[in-house]
This record gives sequence, C-alpha cells and structure tokens, in this order.
Amino acid sequence: MATMILPSEVQRPSATRVCRFCGSKLERTFVDLGMSPLCESYPSASDLHRGEVYYPLHVYLCEQCFLVQLEEYETPQKIFGDYAYFSSYSDSWLKHAEKYCDQTTKRFRLSAESFVVEVASNDGYLLQYFVRQGVPVLGVEPAANVAKVAVERGVPTLVQFFNTKLAKELAAQGRCADLLIGNNVLAQVPDLNDFVEALKILLKPCGVLTLEFPHLLRLIERNEFDTIYHEHFSYFSMLSTVRILEAHGLKAFDLEELTTHGGSLRVFASRVEYQTREIEPSVARLIEEEKRAGLASTEGYAAFAQRVKETKLQLLDFLLTAARQGKSVAGYGAPGKSATLLHYCGIGKDLIEYTVDRNPYKQGRFLPGSHIPIYHPDRIRETKPDYVVILPWNLKNEIMGQLQFIREWGGRFVVPIPTVTVC
Ligand SMILES: [Zn+2]
Repeated sequence: MATMILPSEVQRPSATRVCRFCGSKLERTFVDLGMSPLCESYPSASDLHRGEVYYPLHVYLCEQCFLVQLEEYETPQKIFGDYAYFSSYSDSWLKHAEKYCDQTTKRFRLSAESFVVEVASNDGYLLQYFVRQGVPVLGVEPAANVAKVAVERGVPTLVQFFNTKLAKELAAQGRCADLLIGNNVLAQVPDLNDFVEALKILLKPCGVLTLEFPHLLRLIERNEFDTIYHEHFSYFSMLSTVRILEAHGLKAFDLEELTTHGGSLRVFASRVEYQTREIEPSVARLIEEEKRAGLASTEGYAAFAQRVKETKLQLLDFLLTAARQGKSVAGYGAPGKSATLLHYCGIGKDLIEYTVDRNPYKQGRFLPGSHIPIYHPDRIRETKPDYVVILPWNLKNEIMGQLQFIREWGGRFVVPIPTVTVC
C-alpha cells in the first residue's frame, strides 16, 4: 500500500537549521529543487483521489564541514515502513553484489568462523552470496515486507532500525562483525552521528567496515540532481566522509570508485586503534582530486544550481517539441529518482504517457505526484512509442540492450542526464 501521511504527523522543521553532523547553522543553499512527494510511495488507483503531501527538496551546504544535506521532513518509519524497492529486480545490481562477496571473502579471508553483518540488507540480495560460501551472516532491515523475502531465501534478518541501542545489544551477545556492510544506507540516515557510532560499536577490533554511497563529486560533475530525494538526507564527498569517520574513532584505509548510482564510493574503514592496516594511496589521491574540484571551500558547489536549471529547460524543450509533432513518448523504469526529475521539470502524463517497470509491486500503480501510470514492460511492444525516456539512466546500457526491439518501428531512446541525449 502507498504510504499516507496526515498533516499532524509531519515533523516540523526546527526554527534554525543545523548541520546533522557538526551542528553548525545551515545558511547556504546548494540547490533548491522545489516541492516533491515522497519518491518511494507509489499510489494505487484507489489512492489517486486522496491527494498527496509534497515536501521541499531544498539542499543546503554546511560551510563548516561541507556536508551537503537535506532537512529531515518525514520520519524514516514513514518512508521505509513499506518500502517498494526490492534490490533483486536488477540484474546488474545482483552481479555487483556477487562480485563484492567474492572480493571481500578473498581479501579479508572470510570463512565459516567469520561473521558478516549487513545494515539495511534489503531482500538479502547481497548476503545470499555469503550464505552460499558458508559464511555466517545477519541482516538488519527495517522494512518488514522486504525483510520477509530475505528470510525466505535463507538470510537471517532482524526487522529493526540500526542504531547504537541495537549495536550494543548485539555486541553484548558477542555478535560483533568481522565484516560490516553499509551499502546505500549512510545517505538515508537522519541521525548520522548515532548511526556511525553504532557501526563502530558493532565492529570487531580487527573488523572491516565497508560503506557504499553515491559520491558527491560525481553528482556535481555529472549533473545527477535527480539522485537528490527525500530519502537521501546527506550527500558525501570523501573529505566529509573521512571527517565523520574520524569523529567516531574510525579511519578509512582504502576506497574504490564504482559506476553504480551514477558514480559511487566504496570506502573501507577500520577502528583507529587497529594500527596494522596501512592506508592505501587511493584515499589521499581522491581527497586531492576533491580539493582541486573546490570541494574544500564553497567554490566547488556554486555552479551546480544553474546547470540543473539548464537541464530542465533542455528536457522540456525536447518533450514540448515531441508533443507538438504528435510523437508518442513513454518512460522506462519507475525509480525513486524519477520523482525528483519529473516534479522539478513539471512533467506529467501529458508529456510522458506512461512508464513501465519490471518490479511487479509497481505495476498497476502510479508515479507519485505526476500519477503517470506504471505498466508491465510488454506495454512498450504493444504501443510502439516513438521515444522511450530512460528514467533510471544509470542502467541505460542494460535497458537499451533489453529494448533494442524499439528500433523495429524506428523508436529512439532519450537519456535525460547529464544532458538530454536522444539516441
Ligand atoms: Zn557541518
């Protein structure tokens, strides 16, 4: 079911906005994307007459610690209570998970004596590969419907939010982790300091923590403004990540740059007191690159808002021209980020008739706010649209491969980000 929010339940923003890491006043705007509904609530046909609550998507830059952040407008319980995102519906994401499992098992010599914990473990898409290798695991996942799927596939999962209270309980039971995984969760944590402290508590003295999150440097460079949405409270550079880890007695010792989510970082960290692990040159190298891009001052953040506006104008130009020429336009995918893109640009079903998604949960429902209907992917073959707008542009190669058949009727793909491209 779609998440419904009563106005009385909405958390009021405090009179002064403060940085969720360092507590400094937030006064500088990074980008203001206007108002948008919660992006992972997909209304059903019976929800459509009820209306939806829109929240501001106004992103600030902390001028003290350079953490880019959104104010918290909704409680995480509301957002993640019945979460529609099932990781296992993307082939490339599963391959990514399997590769990660192979790499870390070898590098950190994980075995049947080790213990792997994943925070926000979703439907067990990642931990299932450790289970296959005989490594004991535990998932922590607050969305009950998603956690249920994990348990069914043999991944023990606690249906809970991860915080210092839970970390202390697990530590007291002797269940600290040799490998602790936080993939695409750090950005979604409202109480950042409590969460990172909890990670440290749950890490064995010699344990390794790996975190994956979209990389702010690439978000800025590649104009990925639609990856900004209410579920993502914070946007991290390596500079801000190192500072946050250090404040909690953790040190980054290695990193990898990934292509996932339009450019992500995988950061490897250990406890500060665990001295034997050397810090790889990759860490200093990336920090230097970020400094050169101006991310250690306000300078590197200044031009972003104007580029975002330019993309809106380009996309609207394209869609209005297509509409005037009587061309049909469909979407592909119903990812969370499509809500930001469509609302900021003011695009409704008059410009994109419908979209399709492989996830059966989303089929028959509607995109939040714009109410663009979501169908099974077969709809594209049936209606033969002139253009297919790829909303999850980060998976564009995979999607264009699956949809080559649109060439049969002269169909073309439209990739909206970083600049509107028709191919
Ligand atoms: Zn700050």
